[in-house]
Amino acid sequence: MKIIKDENAYITSILLLVMLIPVLLLLIVVIDQHSHDVNSTLDKLQSDKIKSICSDFEEIIITITKESLHNITHEIVTSNRSKTTSDEIKKHIQSKIDEYTLAMDNDYNMHCKIDELNPATDPFKIEIEYSLQISTKDNKISIIKNQRKLVEITDKNYPVYDPLPTLKTGVIFREGYVDYKNKLSEYVVSDTDDVYVNVKQHIIIRECPINNYIQHGNTNQSMMFCLNNHNYHDSHDGMCLLCRLENSSSCNHQGLETFILPTKIFDAAPVSIDHVLLNDRNNQYTGNIMTINNNTGIYLDNGHKKKYGL
Ligand SMILES: [Zn+2]
Ligand SMILES: [Zn+2]
Repeated sequence: MKIIKDENAYITSILLLVMLIPVLLLLIVVIDQHSHDVNSTLDKLQSDKIKSICSDFEEIIITITKESLHNITHEIVTSNRSKTTSDEIKKHIQSKIDEYTLAMDNDYNMHCKIDELNPATDPFKIEIEYSLQISTKDNKISIIKNQRKLVEITDKNYPVYDPLPTLKTGVIFREGYVDYKNKLSEYVVSDTDDVYVNVKQHIIIRECPINNYIQHGNTNQSMMFCLNNHNYHDSHDGMCLLCRLENSSSCNHQGLETFILPTKIFDAAPVSIDHVLLNDRNNQYTGNIMTINNNTGIYLDNGHKKKYGL
């Protein structure tokens, strides 16, 4: 009898064991699946994080570029520092970006190289090209990209100063404007009547809000508004910011121009446009007076009269 009982228990145990095997196998699969899910969730979190770090970093690159242009132009116009090249500006931006990446916490490897700095088709912007690499410390997740971006030079938080008046005549920017005294008058070859003596003007590069240039001539008020604010305009003949910084005399890019308001009124005098007066001296030319109101007039040639509807 005992033998039969033992046999039954033995068979029951075997049966139980056989029934347990699939349960165990299922458990193993579930655990494995769970750890796989945890890993892929971690990877997803890491990759989202790295994407967000990358987009923040790209914003920083734009801000550093604006800030560098602000600081470099400010230093030139306030201390009569000499001209600078795109290469030097590129190095300046690079060093500021390196400072930033060094100061960042070390959970990620971050690297950015400024490859190019070029004039843009829109002269109120410059084009920056950079290569960027961000990766986790174990290099499992990384972003590598080459990017070209336009950086506006008219951001009110980082005003950019026109370096040309200082580089050409040595005038210094103080208290919000430059006061040429005799400097411009002496620079302009045929200013025999001193029509440009004691000119004072702002030199922050601001884009004229009158989009359709021909409307400058609609009323005296619109022209006075533009002259008083010393706005800049898109110009094929004017120089772009990077060529201005290099103190060039010619520029193959789309450039900028602004009016320089004379202090004396005669029938004719050198044309009151910055790229004419601050150009190489043999490229200055004469225009006729355009009276804006009783005390104000500017000298313009036919091309500029037509452009501004005067
Ligand atoms: Zn204007
Ligand atoms: Zn240029």
